[in-house]
Amino acid sequence: MQEDFLFLDEKMGPWYDLGNKKEDDPVMKFESVAQAIEMLKNFQQTQYAYNHAISMLYHDASTTAPSDSWEGRGKTMEILTQVTYEQMTKPENAELLSYLEANADQLDAQTRREVEVLRKGYDQIHRIPAEEYVAYSVLLNEAQGVWQKAKTDDNFELFAPVLEKIVDFNRKFAGYYQPDMLPYDALLNEYEEGLTMETLDAFFAQLQETIVPLIAKIREAKQIDNAFLFKTYPAAQQRVFSEYLMDLMGIDKTHCALGETEHPYTMNFNNKDVRITTHYYENNLVSSMFSVVHEGGHALYELGADDCYNYTALTGGVSMGIHESQSRFYENIIGRSEAFVHAVFPKLKELFPEQLKDVDEMMFYRAINRSEPSLIRIEADELTYPLHIMVRYEVEKQLIAGTLAVKDIPAEWNRLYKEYLGVDVPNNAKGCLQDSHWSGGSIGYFPSYAIGSAYGPQMLRKMEEELGDIYKDVAKGDLSRVTAWLREKIHRYASFKKPTELFESVCGRFDAKYFTDYLTEKYSKLYDL
Ligand code: ZN
Repeated sequence: MQEDFLFLDEKMGPWYDLGNKKEDDPVMKFESVAQAIEMLKNFQQTQYAYNHAISMLYHDASTTAPSDSWEGRGKTMEILTQVTYEQMTKPENAELLSYLEANADQLDAQTRREVEVLRKGYDQIHRIPAEEYVAYSVLLNEAQGVWQKAKTDDNFELFAPVLEKIVDFNRKFAGYYQPDMLPYDALLNEYEEGLTMETLDAFFAQLQETIVPLIAKIREAKQIDNAFLFKTYPAAQQRVFSEYLMDLMGIDKTHCALGETEHPYTMNFNNKDVRITTHYYENNLVSSMFSVVHEGGHALYELGADDCYNYTALTGGVSMGIHESQSRFYENIIGRSEAFVHAVFPKLKELFPEQLKDVDEMMFYRAINRSEPSLIRIEADELTYPLHIMVRYEVEKQLIAGTLAVKDIPAEWNRLYKEYLGVDVPNNAKGCLQDSHWSGGSIGYFPSYAIGSAYGPQMLRKMEEELGDIYKDVAKGDLSRVTAWLREKIHRYASFKKPTELFESVCGRFDAKYFTDYLTEKYSKLYDL
């Protein structure tokens, strides 16, 4: 499982320079709406250019830059980030946005949405008092190192006081973000606009009802052998296979390149230049295979955006939830299907004749779908993954509501892992300290992963209604109709539509039953339940 989509324009300002705001600057004069729109365009293009440069430096650092070359790059990044931030927080921009808002009836739909998105970003920065922003920034800088050490030493008490402060800040910030919302709803809304506890409570309750008994049944069933996936698979052949997979997915290599990094990710510069990465493990055939398919799904989303959104605030996918819905659609719904295995298996046999000489298609299909409750979220399979998210959701919800103290997280975490997944957590390093998100201040982020997984099967049913049996195409190695459908319904809009609006425009109201039915059907068949 991967998770790693990097938004170009997300929260990248340094927070130390908030004193710059000048409330009493003279009011700007605009000659006409047309002139203001032109200024808005220029502003967005400038932001795009800075972000492009910063992201390129980041990508270079993660892929090909020599190891001891950080100093100069760090300097450039610091300066570019500061300039971007200063550009974004200029009082003139607030006036420009206010002027355009006052003349909204003269704007086309795209420009109206651009103003809305920019306003949200602008307000976000200005809503939090400068001194609190600075204090939070200092805290987060420290938190990363403390968390790392706490995880290495399995010492939750070390991280607890820092996490307490992070939780307090987030509870307070929630009130600044959305004073009319419940605090945790406000935090959810920061990552997935429109997502609420009401939706998630119903979603997770339904998951629990279906998945928990299913996992218990699988535990009693005959286990699937997947040992052959962990023989030796040389990276050179795996690289050939990656190229083959990208071609099969219809990814245009003149617009998308594959690199190698410690943790796979996707980075979009614009809809003509997307970078994906993978990691080759020579003792694991499928880790990179599914990284490529997953990141390839993110890439197709970015590459499929209409040109009109380039160099604007609407460039790129709209949210983490929708992005994950696309990457996981390709990874799980397509990539882990019998049809897909049928299409790619001859190539695998050709590249790894020795390693796979006793393996047939069905053995391979079953092996890549083996389900087993485990401790670590990022290593979880398609069936158990949402329960890992559910634990985090329950813990975060209670933390922000003030009904769970930070010191009591380990006990609650371990209790929930036992209840949902049936596993005993041996220590906090493999328990509540495993993810870096909280140390980065991200509370309310995890649920977007689960919701992204759940969107997929509902999209699949809609797609089948309109296109018929898409798995016939997939079995022939032809994903063109699948991708064209997703492009038409989802990809082309970039961030023009809000996530919930976009999903509902394609599938109607979100219903978790599609997801639970999909999992029940797939795993009942796999394990002969
Ligand atoms: Zn992802």
